[in-house]
Amino acid sequence: MTAIPLSILVVEDEPQVQKFLRASLTSEGYRVIEATTGADGLAQARTHNPDLVLLDLGLPDMDGMEVTTRLREWSRRPILVISARGQEADKVKALDLGADDYLTKPFGTFELLARIRVALRNAATGAEPRALPVVTTGTLRIDLDKRQVFASGREVHLTPNEYKLFAYLMQNSGKVLTHRQLLKEVWGPAYATQTHYLRVYMVQLRHKLEANPARPTYLTTEPGVGYRLKADF
Ligand code: CA
Repeated sequence: MTAIPLSILVVEDEPQVQKFLRASLTSEGYRVIEATTGADGLAQARTHNPDLVLLDLGLPDMDGMEVTTRLREWSRRPILVISARGQEADKVKALDLGADDYLTKPFGTFELLARIRVALRNAATGAEPRALPVVTTGTLRIDLDKRQVFASGREVHLTPNEYKLFAYLMQNSGKVLTHRQLLKEVWGPAYATQTHYLRVYMVQLRHKLEANPARPTYLTTEPGVGYRLKADF
């Protein structure tokens, strides 16, 4: 018996990147659908309803932001943005518009496949409310019913806002969260631009939860974008 392969739509106009993606994804058993323009990407997405979209931001006819916005009008499937270095502002915008993650060129096959697995897994668990109140990532554990947090088996006391921030990161482990998303979630929409709040709270959380706060294993910074609680070990 063969399972139906998961399909990935690749919207990318650079032939070399396209070739690399096709080879990496096909060898992993994914079915690859390709488009080289934003308009074609949107059309292919409608036709095939792929399980995941890999989206280049710099497309010849429109930018990836517009593609993201238009996809999000009808689809909740994960979108992974592919962009060149130095496009931090664009990445953030795409994430705030509903993209799930990003990859910075050049990236390797291992990183690509790991990010795809995380995005597909989050999409699968995000479809229904989490059944389990306890979330574990590596040595970190949170009990959402009892509001208890543990690091390496020892209970850690967090302030209410530290707890809210940590709970949100744990529930989205593996996924990059923008400054705006985190601030809105923890402090509310009026605080969406107060990134210094986050810097302070992340320092506090690292001190309480990381073995080496200066070199965090879990609570990692995505420069210019936001934070990610690393899930794959
Ligand atoms: Ca491009």
